[in-house]
Amino acid sequence: MAGPHQIVIVGGGAGGLELATRAGNRLGRRGRAAVTLVDKNETHLWKPLLHEVAAGSMDVHAHQLDYLAQALWHHFHFCYGALEGLDRVGREILVAPTVDERGAEVIPRRRLRYDTLVIAIGSVANTFSVPGVAEHAYALESAAEADRFHRSLISACARANYRSANAPERLRIVIVGGGATGVELAAELHNTTRVLAAYGLENIDPERFLEITLLDAGPRILPMLPERIATAVTAALGDLGVTIACSEQAVEVTASEVRTRSGRSFQADLAVWAAGIKGADVLKDLDGLETNRINQLVVLPTLQTTRDPDIFALGDCAAFPRDAGGAAVPPAAQAAHQQASHLLRSIARRLEGRPLTPFRYRDFGSLVSLGEYSTIGSLMGFLSGKSYRVEGWFARFMYLSLYKLHLYALHGPIGVALDTLARFLKRGTEPRVKLH
Ligand SMILES: Cc1cc2nc3c(=O)[nH]c(=O)nc-3n(C[C@H](O)[C@H](O)[C@H](O)COP(=O)(O)OP(=O)(O)OC[C@H]3O[C@@H](n4cnc5c(N)ncnc54)[C@H](O)[C@@H]3O)c2cc1C
Repeated sequence: MAGPHQIVIVGGGAGGLELATRAGNRLGRRGRAAVTLVDKNETHLWKPLLHEVAAGSMDVHAHQLDYLAQALWHHFHFCYGALEGLDRVGREILVAPTVDERGAEVIPRRRLRYDTLVIAIGSVANTFSVPGVAEHAYALESAAEADRFHRSLISACARANYRSANAPERLRIVIVGGGATGVELAAELHNTTRVLAAYGLENIDPERFLEITLLDAGPRILPMLPERIATAVTAALGDLGVTIACSEQAVEVTASEVRTRSGRSFQADLAVWAAGIKGADVLKDLDGLETNRINQLVVLPTLQTTRDPDIFALGDCAAFPRDAGGAAVPPAAQAAHQQASHLLRSIARRLEGRPLTPFRYRDFGSLVSLGEYSTIGSLMGFLSGKSYRVEGWFARFMYLSLYKLHLYALHGPIGVALDTLARFLKRGTEPRVKLH
C-alpha cells in the first residue's frame, strides 16, 4: 500500500537530530513525507560537550534533550532502539530490542520500512586492539560513559579528602591521545578539581592533588592544527602543570598504569582513551554496504552510499572524500552540521524527482577550548584561503557559537534565546561543578 515517502534517520546526534528536526518541520508537518528518527538512547547530548560532563563542569541531566518531546514538537516519529541490521532488498532496517537495567526486554525487536535511509550513528573509540583499554580505560564516546568517569573522579576526590594516613595524596590521570578531546579534557579537569576543592574538600591541596599526563604517539599534540597553535597549547597546558609526553605509543593499559612502546610506564589511577575513532561494528557488514578500514561507510559526493542510492550516510560514520588526493572530511561536529543541511536539501530534491547535487565541505578552522583558561585555534579566511590564529574572547565566542548553531537548528531563534536566558538566570543557584 503506497503511503507517504518514509524517511528513516538512524542516529540522533550532532547531524542526525538536526536533520530529523528540520525534515520534520519542512516535510513531516505538511505530510510530504513521514520522518522517523531511530536512536539507541532516549536522550540527546551534543557530543563536543562530553569532556565538560566528564570533568563535571556540565550536568548532563540539565543539558540533555528528550527525543520523544523533540519528535512531538517537530513532526517526526521517534523509535528507541539500536540499529542491528539492514535488509536492502526489503528496504527495512532491524532495530534491536530494548532492555531495562535488569536486562529484561521492554520493547521487542522491530523492522522499519524506509524509502530513504540516512545513517548517522557517529563513531566509537578506536582502541587499535591495545590490551586492557576496554577493561581499564574510560572513552568519552557517550554521555553515560562521561558521567561514569565523573563519578569515579568525585569518588577519588572524596577518598583523598578523608584518606587514612597511608592513602595516596595524588590522583594520577593519564589521557591517551593528544587530539582536541584529550587536550580539552586535561584543561577542564585542571579547572574543576580546583573548584571542587572549594566545595568542602578542605584536605585536598588543588595545586598538588591532580597529576595529569597527556600521551600522544605522534611527535606533537593537536596534529590537525597548525604547528604554531599546537606549540601555544603545549605551553598553556605546561603552565597548568599538565605533563605532555609525545612519541609515546600506548601498548597496554592495566588497572594502575599505561605502558608505552618505548618501555615507559605511566602510573594511572584513572585512564582515559581518546586516541582515535572508528565506525561501530554494526557497519562492518551492513548488507554489503562498502566500508573503509575503520568501518566508516564510503559515500559518493552526494552522500549516497556507493552501493545503494537510497541509503545516505553523514557525520563521523561516513567516509567522505574531501579532495582528489584522498583526504577525508574530518570527524567533526561542523562537518556533521553541514552534511545535515545538505541532506535536507537533497531529500527535498529526491521527493521532487530532481537530480542531487554534490556536498562541498567548508572548513571554518578548528578551535580548542582550554576551559576557563583560554580558547585557541585557527580560523579560515575565506577571501585569502589562509588560516589565522585566534585566541581569547573572540576564539571563545566562535567556539561557543558552534553549539549555539546546533541549538538553533533544534529549537529555532526564540528557543535559543530563552534557553540562554534561563541558563544565565540559573547560574546563581547552581554549583559551578557537578558535585555527585
Ligand atoms: C569530547 C569531545 C569534544 C569534541 N569537540 C569538538 C569540537 O570542538 N568541534 C567539533 O567540530 N567536533 C568536536 N568533536 C567531534 C564531534 O562531537 C563529532 O564529530 C560529532 O558529534 C559527530 O556527529 P554525528 O552526528 O556523526 O555523530 P554523534 O553526534 O556522535 O551522534 C551519533 C548518534 O547515533 C546514536 N547511535 C550510535 N549507534 C547507534 C545504533 N547502533 N543505533 C541507533 N543509534 C545509534 C548515538 O546514540 C548518537 O545519538 C568532539 C568530540 C568529543 C568526544
